Amino acid sequence: MIRRPIQILPEQIANKIAAGEVVQRPESVVKELLENALDAGATRIVVAVKEGGIKMVQVSDDGSGMDEADALASFLRHATSKIVTYEDLEEIRTFGFRGEALASIAAVAQVTMKTRRSEDDAATVVRIHGGNPPRVTREGREHGTTVVVQNLFYNVPARRKFLKSATTEFRHVYDAVHRVAISYPEIGLEFISDEDQIFNLPPAPFPQRLREVFGERRLEALIPVEETADLLTVRGYIGKPTFGQKSRANQYLFLNRRYIVSRNINHAVFSAYENLLLKGTFPFFLLFLDIDPRRVDVNVHPSKMEAKFEDEQGVYHFIASLVRKSLASADFVPSLSIRPEAGAAGETGLHFTQRQHAWPGGTPSDAAWNFPAREMIDQRTGEIMPGGAPGGTGLAGRLLGNIDERFAAAGQTVGATGDRTPMSVPGSGPVWQVHSKYILTPVENGLMIVDQHVAHERVLYEKALRRFGTGLTTGQQLLFPRTIQLLPSDYALVEELLKELQQLGFDIKVFGKNTVVVEGVPPDVKVGDEERILEEILTLYKEYRRDSPTAVRDNLAKSFSCRSAVKAGDPLNDTEMRSLLAQLFATTMPYVCPHGRPVVLRISIDELDKRFGRT
Ligand code: ADP
Ligand code: MG
Repeated sequence: MIRRPIQILPEQIANKIAAGEVVQRPESVVKELLENALDAGATRIVVAVKEGGIKMVQVSDDGSGMDEADALASFLRHATSKIVTYEDLEEIRTFGFRGEALASIAAVAQVTMKTRRSEDDAATVVRIHGGNPPRVTREGREHGTTVVVQNLFYNVPARRKFLKSATTEFRHVYDAVHRVAISYPEIGLEFISDEDQIFNLPPAPFPQRLREVFGERRLEALIPVEETADLLTVRGYIGKPTFGQKSRANQYLFLNRRYIVSRNINHAVFSAYENLLLKGTFPFFLLFLDIDPRRVDVNVHPSKMEAKFEDEQGVYHFIASLVRKSLASADFVPSLSIRPEAGAAGETGLHFTQRQHAWPGGTPSDAAWNFPAREMIDQRTGEIMPGGAPGGTGLAGRLLGNIDERFAAAGQTVGATGDRTPMSVPGSGPVWQVHSKYILTPVENGLMIVDQHVAHERVLYEKALRRFGTGLTTGQQLLFPRTIQLLPSDYALVEELLKELQQLGFDIKVFGKNTVVVEGVPPDVKVGDEERILEEILTLYKEYRRDSPTAVRDNLAKSFSCRSAVKAGDPLNDTEMRSLLAQLFATTMPYVCPHGRPVVLRISIDELDKRFGRT
């Protein structure tokens, strides 16, 4: 090949090349423009997109704005107001600093910027379309900046081809806006897609913003974490183990309030959940890392989504041990010391007293930090049956039935996971039931208390999932099949879930006219109760479906276990209690019920000694 002489690439080509790294899809445009707005000190930002951002992205802010000279300069490559010296680069406190976002975007899309400083009379409007020189006009506008980006990749067909459907691109854009909603509660944020308002969040204290973004329900499944070391502060939330996620989508990591992705930190968190998560699920986490900017390099990649920590290993261990500790001290893990102040929300206050980035929302002393998780879920599931005459005969069957399924493995399982089970095989010593609600039994270093309802729930939940897996369940055949008249919506649901219900052990036939005939029930369901239980399962299922519409089996397993389990108020005899404990400790996660409530508590002998003044 003939070698041609070296030439410096014209700025336009250089920008197009650089754009390849900065602008992958509409999401990148939204991210960069949002970051510029934040850097400009905005207090309110409006993001609007059309066709998932492919046709148009518009970001308006009420930040500092620019004069005409800066507005023009902002589109030049390496044009930035954020760093001046190389030393500044060592200590980045802004999102931008490379001065290439606007230049890159303008190289691959049609851009219009309208910007005004409060001290200027009018706004400068700059249009950059294609390789033509920018056109400048003047218009009216409040102070701040609006950038409109149209027809992304209109001049780079090869890249345009790689864009996905508007729906997919929208999802990515949504994620980018969502992240800013989480990390900047003090900023009002409105998001519009194809004329529909997706959300409009007013500035709010952090807890309130989280509630708006995630919903009350989801917050109940989270455990607050916080820890400070010399150079590093970590705070945020981790999901209770039962709040396992089907994907990694719910993992949020912010470094000095910048969203980043870190395999190292993901792994640190994941490793701390070892043995606590069901297979194939991932933990939810939302962590804010605060590190002296000199100890970390965010200039690893043009998109600045990665970071290099000075002490990579140190950060790993810090986070792994923080998460482990938080999981251990959360109240679903057995070792519990009786501190009067230690409730579900005992030590949950997150104190956002950051060095560089104070949370203008103030410290979240908001009552929201007192997660009402237990009380709320209690109302739904753990109620004491008023006068609920427990079926003496049915009960033994429900607890003893299918015990062989896992009983053989029980001792083995407990031994194998001995490091998270600080007790010998529970239930091998004496057992007592108190108030027809809790089971007490001595364990190696103390006393174990088990909530009988949630314990049975955990057992039945895992059984149900296994039955879906194998599809073989012989239920108890009813001597007299029951004909049940259902609500039309329940009837439709039975038809929809027929296969799964049969796998659970319900022998059901549908007869039209909202009528079903139940000929058999799962071994765990009390005969005589089949009508009530079926209806309750369907009702609860509908509730779970609202939250996670696609988790059909999981929702059904949860509904089934909740409604078929022994209740608080059911007396249990010695054999039933032992059987329940054996089955509980053969499950993969004995300490948490499928809703994230604690199943087991442990009071150590040390704690008792302390309480009785023996030490
Ligand atoms: P960077 O953010 O890395 O500096 P950009 O290309 O994103 O590079 O922006 C270039 C410059 O334009 C910024 O440094 C800033 O001075 C100015 N700028 C961009 N967007 C805005 C905005 N929304 N408000 C005020 N100034 C802005
Ligand atoms: Mg920027």
